[in-house]
Amino acid sequence: MREEEIETAIKVVVVGNGAVGKSSMIQRYCKGIFTKDYKKTIGVDFLERQIEINCEDVRLMLWDTAGQEEFDAITKAYYRGAQACVLAFSSTDRDSFDAIQSWKKKVEDEVGELAMVLVQNKIDLEDEAVVQQEEGEELAKQLKLRFYRTSVKDNVNVDEVFKYLAEKYLQEI
Ligand code: GDP
Repeated sequence: MREEEIETAIKVVVVGNGAVGKSSMIQRYCKGIFTKDYKKTIGVDFLERQIEINCEDVRLMLWDTAGQEEFDAITKAYYRGAQACVLAFSSTDRDSFDAIQSWKKKVEDEVGELAMVLVQNKIDLEDEAVVQQEEGEELAKQLKLRFYRTSVKDNVNVDEVFKYLAEKYLQEI
């Protein structure tokens, strides 16, 4: 399949507090790797992966904030034109869970409605978990979002998150 034949390209932003695993998730999904001390490269805007949904080639462009989450001017540029969004928190970080609604609002204020999904990452760290599965489920219900529990480290459910987002986006256009 030549590049110009791919009809659908979806800009996906991965948002959430620092250290929940956003960069790792993008690296895992697009490059198939996991490293404990991956250094974010400022200046690299996004990584991409092509998948097939209902016999249609879809290119997902995954944007990383490169650790600049706290700078509004940067995150605004990063959200521009986004069509799908992963709201991510970590099992081991209560603040990251409490911040989800404000991340959702930030993205929606900037780009309006878009395909969204709630993700609880680092489920492999069972002993260190401070946010329970039920709390994630409850929040997802309240926000009317699909909920996935992932381990980027063990490669659990990562592909499913992005497949769901692509399908949801395609359903809505
Ligand atoms: P970001 O700031 O949200 O982009 O987070 P990073 O991708 O930099 O990840 C922060 C740290 O968490 C890194 O040391 C990652 O290796 C680690 N990490 C990411 N995902 C997982 C996971 O699913 N399980 C475990 N145990 N560690 C993870």
